[in-house]
Amino acid sequence: MGKKTDSELIIDGIRLDKRLPDQTREIKMKVGNIVSANGSAEVAFGNTTALASVHGPRPLFPKHLQESQTGILRVRYNMAPFSVTDRKSPGPDRRSVEISKVTRLALEPSLFLDDYPKVTVDGFVEIIQADGSTRVTGINALSLALASAGIPMTSLVSACSVGKINGTLIVDLNGMEDNNSESDVAVAMMPDKDIVTLLQMDGMLTKEELLHLLGLAKKTCGKIYEMQKNALLEKYRGEE
Ligand code: UDP
Repeated sequence: MGKKTDSELIIDGIRLDKRLPDQTREIKMKVGNIVSANGSAEVAFGNTTALASVHGPRPLFPKHLQESQTGILRVRYNMAPFSVTDRKSPGPDRRSVEISKVTRLALEPSLFLDDYPKVTVDGFVEIIQADGSTRVTGINALSLALASAGIPMTSLVSACSVGKINGTLIVDLNGMEDNNSESDVAVAMMPDKDIVTLLQMDGMLTKEELLHLLGLAKKTCGKIYEMQKNALLEKYRGEE
């Protein structure tokens, strides 16, 4: 679905929130803030904040859902009613079902679920403030929460959004940019393995633009990956 706007979102190369095209908002990460969970993390990109918790591995019921050779990951993404100015009606909708699914698909390749036949690992993503790019913020938080729960994994998954506003290719769309973009693309990857686990595109781009954006996403995910590792070290070094 193409989206286009006449309003100016970028003036003389500077975005309305004073960022350069390839600049993210301020990113904050904290691991282990939900004590009742097996793993948890909070990640903020500017005014978008995702809280993730992981419960399990735990027995999966009803039994007919169990896989004899592997464990399964279940994900629920939810946007809190108070997370946006126009109150969001509570409960699941088509969008949250879709984002729950793509979050699961983005994270599954990083996990050794075969180590846990018949059980489930349950991941919850709560968006407590939404200002664009909530799915990628949630993926970053849930990957950290899975690591902090001690689920064996081959790599962390790092994610960011990239897109096009007023003909300029940009990184980390905020809510206004997202709503008025010509295109937005959600990317998740395992940066140390150079493996992309999620690529979702909305709007229109040329092949060259898409390749350029993927380059920007790779660079940005690499930085996010380092921040995720530091957030884990900060938590667990303190406990040594
Ligand atoms: N949004 C909103 N109300 C909703 C859904 C979305 O205000 O019910 C806003 C929110 O800021 C969100 C943005 O629209 O981040 C873009 O939503 P989209 O579905 O593109 O997913 P996202 O970019 O958050 O992954």
